[in-house]
Amino acid sequence: MDCLFCAIAAGEIPSSKVYEDETVLVFKDIAPVAPIHYLVIPKEHVASSAAEISETNAPIVAHIFTVIAQIAAKEGFADGFRVLTNCGASAGQTVNHLHFHVLAGKEFE
Ligand code: 5GP
Ligand code: ZN
Repeated sequence: MDCLFCAIAAGEIPSSKVYEDETVLVFKDIAPVAPIHYLVIPKEHVASSAAEISETNAPIVAHIFTVIAQIAAKEGFADGFRVLTNCGASAGQTVNHLHFHVLAGKEFE
């Protein structure tokens, strides 16, 4: 499968890594829209978007949110951050590998 985030997870395309464990990778977005703009992905291509979240892959999604909370606490932005996922091209999704944007470090509208 020709997938940018699978290639990043495999290390075939370099990324600025923030956190990594067996199943999850967090790296900096190449075009940040906030002082902190991380992308959080399952290393495995378990879903192309949030529309494919199911009971089967829900455990990795839950793990992703625990990782986000841990990073927010560790980096000191737990009191103000945003998590979002674009689902479908019409919603702005450009990479079809489930991912969550973590934005922090500014005042949001
Ligand atoms: P989406 O638009 O699908 O919600 O989010 C995809 C994100 O991936 C965008 O914010 C875009 O800036 C980021 N992105 C695209 N290509 C690369 C890349 O090669 N490296 C990194 N680190 N981020 C990328
Ligand atoms: Zn993928």
